[in-house]
Amino acid sequence: MASSFVDLHCHSTASDGTLAPAEVVRLAKEVGLTGLALTDHDTIGGIAEARGEADRLGIDFIAGIEISAEFPHPGTLHLLGYGVDPESAVLKEMTGKLIEGRDTRNPKIVQRLQELGVAITMEEVEKEAGKDVDTRSVVGRPHIAAILQRKGYVSSIKQAFDKYLAPGGLAYFDKERLSPRRALEMIRESRGLSVLAHPVQLRTENDAQLERIVKDLIDLGLRGMEVIHSDHDAATVEKLTRLADRYSLLKTGGSDFHGSNKKNIQLGLANGRRIQREYFDKLAAALS
Ligand code: AMP
Ligand code: ZN
Ligand code: FE
Ligand code: FE
Repeated sequence: MASSFVDLHCHSTASDGTLAPAEVVRLAKEVGLTGLALTDHDTIGGIAEARGEADRLGIDFIAGIEISAEFPHPGTLHLLGYGVDPESAVLKEMTGKLIEGRDTRNPKIVQRLQELGVAITMEEVEKEAGKDVDTRSVVGRPHIAAILQRKGYVSSIKQAFDKYLAPGGLAYFDKERLSPRRALEMIRESRGLSVLAHPVQLRTENDAQLERIVKDLIDLGLRGMEVIHSDHDAATVEKLTRLADRYSLLKTGGSDFHGSNKKNIQLGLANGRRIQREYFDKLAAALS
């Protein structure tokens, strides 16, 4: 059979991507993917629309979600939950908590920006996130960054983070997160399979520290590791593949596509690398 490719990590307008869920699926079709998982931050609000379009276009689809857990700065610990049950009460509780954390943080960022002389309101931010159209839309810092760029306060999304929104920035506030233990528990109780997203973003000091963290997460229920990602160079993909194999973790791969909120990332391409169909099939098998 000819090679066939997939993407297991991408974002839509349900969170901080710029394409609607159905548009992400249509793009997947255009670029020749045969399998896709949508993994919006803190919400499954885009899943039904994406699944419907995937069914129409004959693309295989897996529901996903990405959540940020507590982790010491400067690292970040993101977990992907695949195959979560949209009807699960635990899933609703989890997404509700995470969105509450955002609802507490976002106005603080906006207020600080106003104090710094930036003309921005929560109404504009919510509109940017599409909350005026769909109240379930998740508001994230990239939405604020897009407004700052459009109004000329910064020249790029990256500059908006560097100057204002990232840790150390003038208007940085953290949001309340779940502990890794609770996050893994809640993904499992939502009947999902948990995967450690882009392990490089843990910013561990060395391989031994990375391995210890991965071992601890496995003890808490972690089932897989994202070995292919836009932030992973070839050496990192190889290293993580060996680590995942050593601990019998399921391996996944995705681009982390966000539409024009991350201009350098294309759907189906992770640092120039395509993601073989096999990654989709093994995940699907583990979920069945
Ligand atoms: P939030 O969920 O609101 O905390 O924002 C997280 C989103 O912002 C994710 O999509 C990140 O990839 C993105 N992000 C975080 N830091 C940066 C950065 N320094 N430059 C660009 N995007 C970033
Ligand atoms: Zn994002
Ligand atoms: Fe992430
Ligand atoms: Fe992501």
